[in-house]
Amino acid sequence: MGKKQNQKIVKCSFCGRDGSEVGSMIAGPDVYICDICIGSSVDILKNNLAAYNNGKTKNPIIHTPASIKKTLDEYVIGQDKAKKVLAVAVYNHYKRINSRSSFFELDDVEIEKSNILLIGPTGVGKTLLAQTLAKILDVPFAIADATTLTEAGYVGDDVETVLVHLLQAADYNLERAQKGIVYIDEIDKIARKSESASITRDVSGEGVQQALLKILEGTVAGVPPKGGRKHPEQSLINVNTKNILFIVGGAFDGIDKIIATRINKNRMGFSSKALKEKNAEEDLLKNILPEDLLRYGLIPELIGRIPVIAPLQSLSEEAFRSILTEPKNAILKQYKKLFMIEGIELEFDPFAINSIVGKAMERKTGARALRSIVEDFMLEIMYDIPTKDNIDKCIITKDVIENGAEPIYIEADRKSA
Ligand code: ADP
Repeated sequence: MGKKQNQKIVKCSFCGRDGSEVGSMIAGPDVYICDICIGSSVDILKNNLAAYNNGKTKNPIIHTPASIKKTLDEYVIGQDKAKKVLAVAVYNHYKRINSRSSFFELDDVEIEKSNILLIGPTGVGKTLLAQTLAKILDVPFAIADATTLTEAGYVGDDVETVLVHLLQAADYNLERAQKGIVYIDEIDKIARKSESASITRDVSGEGVQQALLKILEGTVAGVPPKGGRKHPEQSLINVNTKNILFIVGGAFDGIDKIIATRINKNRMGFSSKALKEKNAEEDLLKNILPEDLLRYGLIPELIGRIPVIAPLQSLSEEAFRSILTEPKNAILKQYKKLFMIEGIELEFDPFAINSIVGKAMERKTGARALRSIVEDFMLEIMYDIPTKDNIDKCIITKDVIENGAEPIYIEADRKSA
């Protein structure tokens, strides 16, 4: 009898069943797990593995915010703040998705999806960041332009078309598409024109925001598999958007003034002189709050669904120079590789690089201008080079870029002489 009293009742730390209810119990330091829970755990792990295999991904890679940021650094120059914000948001997003099928469901706390707003001038890496993230995470990625979208029933693309592109990017693997990333550009262009709700309907602006809201917050959308308009007789694919991460981007021209006005109201001394200073616009952007987006013309419900805001800065000359040469797929590296395939070494004189940077800065379209400038002068050279014999090296000088001169060609025998 005494012996029985001393016996400790062993319970499974996961399901609470005691030893008499289960076949066997495995003990760890102060924890126990029963054979039933082990069985469930094995099933969960098998399912996860099957999901990864279905998605044709390699081994499930564990990403941390730091590792995400580090890989972003290999492709995107600068924008440290935006990278950090994105890395943490994306890490949480996929943690949330991957924990859904496990014991975490037992509690009632549901972690909400955190869609992200990238705000900053044109050509500073917003699309590139979103695209690179999808690449790192090995998930399907689609880009849409908010200005081409209209609410259903109007001329233009239905909001659901962004999901068609995602399905296509996932090779119609629905499960994979439902964990993808969608980037919606020019979100600022669908802002309401005036702050007060107008009596007439605003087809291009508020209507699209309402339609976007549905897919951003999570819905099951009927998507025509090949895109285009929905027809009553057409079979639709039901895409659940609950786990799709939406990243929206825009320049929000003029929002700096809205932020300044708010700050001025709350704090005396933020003088208009300070606002005129260089970089003042970007400093203001760092202080952006959801209420500024509301004043700009986004509807409150949509703002509520995009809780993470990441500001991007315009790029310096130094950053332009780095973009040309440093990222893994930097444009100059790409041309060098192309030439190498032909057995020719391609070199860019430092003055030539300065000249490309100078021209690109003048265009005021961000780093986007770099590619078109380089493509422009490289076209002639690429056209000529296969007709030239015995070339070993090609040097691009400032004169090539500024005056359309021929590059310096070094012949094979002359180089070795
Ligand atoms: P936007 O901010 O308008 O979305 P993008 O991301 O489309 O700009 O940038 C246009 C192009 O300029 C990119 O394809 C990339 O080649 C280059 N680029 C822009 N910003 C960066 C950056 N921070 N680092 C590296 N390349 C950049």
